Amino acid sequence: MWDTILINGLIATMTAGKAPYGAISDGAVALAGGKIAWVGAMKDLEKAPAELARDVVDCGGRLVTPALIDCHTHLIFAGDRSGEFEARLAGTSYEDIAKAGGGIMSTVNATRAASEEDLVRLGMMRAQTMMAEGVGTIEVKSGYGLDLETEIKILRAATAVGGNLPVRIERTFLGAHTLPPEFKDNREGYLDLLIKEIMPALQKEGLIDAVDAYQEGIAFSGEEVSRLFEAATAMGIPVKLHADQLSDMGGAATAAKFKALSADHLEYTSAAGVKAMAEAGCVAVLLPGAFYFLKQTQKPPVELLRKHKIAIAIATDCNPGTSPVMSLHLILNMACTLFGLTPEEALAGVTRNAAAALGLKNLGTLEAGKTASLALWNVENPAALAYAIGGNPLEGLILDGTPVIVSA
Ligand SMILES: [Zn+2]
Repeated sequence: MWDTILINGLIATMTAGKAPYGAISDGAVALAGGKIAWVGAMKDLEKAPAELARDVVDCGGRLVTPALIDCHTHLIFAGDRSGEFEARLAGTSYEDIAKAGGGIMSTVNATRAASEEDLVRLGMMRAQTMMAEGVGTIEVKSGYGLDLETEIKILRAATAVGGNLPVRIERTFLGAHTLPPEFKDNREGYLDLLIKEIMPALQKEGLIDAVDAYQEGIAFSGEEVSRLFEAATAMGIPVKLHADQLSDMGGAATAAKFKALSADHLEYTSAAGVKAMAEAGCVAVLLPGAFYFLKQTQKPPVELLRKHKIAIAIATDCNPGTSPVMSLHLILNMACTLFGLTPEEALAGVTRNAAAALGLKNLGTLEAGKTASLALWNVENPAALAYAIGGNPLEGLILDGTPVIVSA
């Protein structure tokens, strides 16, 4: 006997290559032992639902999807950059803001000064905001520490968020986020510190699921990123990359060279870069929140990504400097309105393809044998999730077979 069966649902399985959204109308999903036991049309059930499962949930025609996955965030940080936003709108330049102690270093300084408990509290608050919109998995990057002590503190805090809440947290080491001022005349020394001290220490404590870097004129070169990725690969840690966000620095090619799980941003990626990603099987993670907040005009090459059949994921990029966004629903809408994704592509971007961007094979679609993490929505068309701005149609969230949000 199954634990639970959801009946009379519009089941958007999000499996590729079948009906749009992999949808089954008048469908049912059965859960047992934290896994999906059965998915299909009601008419194919062999007995009455009450004879098949202990709990029967009638969805009344409403939408069921995989629990959403936010595959690119910088969730753990301290400090407040809203004053900087205000100053910028009043005409103060980035340069003057940085000189006055603003910019990324203000977040680094605040995060270094924060206690681990503070970071856990802040991370839980943000994670709960995301969960309230149906998110069941969040990728969390470090990178506001830039020293051993703080990078460990951030990734321990991320781990604690996943321990205290039913949400799944994937932890990514982003020591190569920006060059800390202590090393401004010693880039080699900072890379040595990352490769020889910080990364091995984090790995020893079991705090890293992936390694990320920022390849950009204002951050690290392709050669520097390659050095870091060679070390990560030798340690058996998968890599991903902030690539081609502000200029074509060949980031997509670097990601491809190391068979990265994903290359993220990609506004300036060339046709050659896209081709390399396709050959390497990298997922393209698009981040419309940062594009919007920075008022960028160069869009990622969506048409080329489609042509090369590259899996496209989308994410909040939640961070205090360039994408202060905690709503994956807003990102679904932005991906459609700003980047021209279809609502189906957008939803695949926070389910099936977001799982691929994190290397999570048991999440992202509703199929027998996969983890029973799913969301029930008070809408009757999957496109509704990308359509509306504001409001929250989530009715229920089940993670690993356990209901964690049940609306009245
Ligand atoms: Zn980012």
